[in-house]
Amino acid sequence: MENSKFKNYQSLFYLQHGFATRALHAGEHVGQRVGDFHTPAHTNAIHQSSTFVFESASHGAALFDGDLSGFIYTRLGNPTVMVTEAKLNALEGCEVKLKNPDLRVSAQLFASGMAAISHTLLALLDRGDTMIAGNCLYGCTHDLLDNVLPRFGINVVTVDTSDLEAFARAMEANTDAKVVFFESPTNPTLQITDIAALVETTKRVNPKATVAIDNTFMTAYLQRPLELGAEIVIYSTTKYICGHGTVVGGAVITTLEDFHDRLYGMVKDIGGSPGPFDAWLVNQGIKTLPLRMKQHCENAMGVATFLEKHPKVAQVYYPGLENHPQHELAARQMDGFGGMISFDLTGGYDAGVRLMDAVSVFTLAVSLGCVDSLIQHPASMTHASISDERKRDAGLSDGLVRISVGIEDLDDLIADLDQALAKV
Ligand code: PLP
Repeated sequence: MENSKFKNYQSLFYLQHGFATRALHAGEHVGQRVGDFHTPAHTNAIHQSSTFVFESASHGAALFDGDLSGFIYTRLGNPTVMVTEAKLNALEGCEVKLKNPDLRVSAQLFASGMAAISHTLLALLDRGDTMIAGNCLYGCTHDLLDNVLPRFGINVVTVDTSDLEAFARAMEANTDAKVVFFESPTNPTLQITDIAALVETTKRVNPKATVAIDNTFMTAYLQRPLELGAEIVIYSTTKYICGHGTVVGGAVITTLEDFHDRLYGMVKDIGGSPGPFDAWLVNQGIKTLPLRMKQHCENAMGVATFLEKHPKVAQVYYPGLENHPQHELAARQMDGFGGMISFDLTGGYDAGVRLMDAVSVFTLAVSLGCVDSLIQHPASMTHASISDERKRDAGLSDGLVRISVGIEDLDDLIADLDQALAKV
């Protein structure tokens, strides 16, 4: 069965428009027909169906052969899912009109961010291959690299990719490394990697190596790695892309047609595709992504500035602060500093626990990128499963508190943290 999705440029017309216009219009208003009635819904329909009806036996066979384009079975593709994929294409291949008119991208939606990451790595790597990974990643990504991939004979080397010299040494010691995978900013320590420089080093050592980045903290609104030379962008759409905490989902967007075909093969045979309703919710979320991201950035800057001056706060990690070690790089590489902040309290772990129990506007919950503000403790929650050695290597202290700053009134967020810190 041929995967014709890469050639689906239905969304490209919108590339001549700005980001917000694309977020609203790309992929929308797909024509539909019921009997004699033309029924193009203004808000796209939810095709909540596992399978699709063939007109005849020869029609079904032609769809399977790839002689005809069309939907067969939802694991293999679904109209509602495809609208969201078309929209992600349009957003990630964003400033192509200015920078690279030949950049063509294709998106594949997944049932979770972890499905997007695992399908990507399984599509790229074979037994005996080596990959280089950032040393500070989401906890379950570390588990996948430490505990799952080695079972399939894949060798994983970790390095702090924000340290370009250390990264170059790791590449030179592993010249056959097939994949480089990292986060920037990292979860939860907010370290920044120079994406263009990392791509340059990778290609100098091994032109055939593929660079993939988890861009969950930023979204294409704030950072577009494909423009900087990365070839694969991965998301947990659970976070900012959906934005309302209603979906667990993932996405992969790539410039590599061969890889996309292999990825589609993985989805077909491993089965990490999303349900139509979840895809529809993600699409609804994307429509307000630009507005939300602007407010997340503005509020996070206000909260970080407040925390930085607070006597009970030992250290704030937020790339928007001038004292962040990579502030200048962040300002150059990103169109905003995002909504994620981590900080250490002078009172350490116990103080962090008290703070989390004392907030009332912030909600104590894992996940991030929701419209409302969340607070959590990475060492005992999102990153609890990784080894102490890996935590130390990633600079993840026991006292670190992570907040995902929402779009509430900034004054309310600051007042809430202020009253909670008074109880610490
Ligand atoms: N990547 C990052 C940076 C994350 O923070 C997460 C989840 O928190 C994931 C990937 C995994 O995404 P999901 O929970 O949608 O599987």
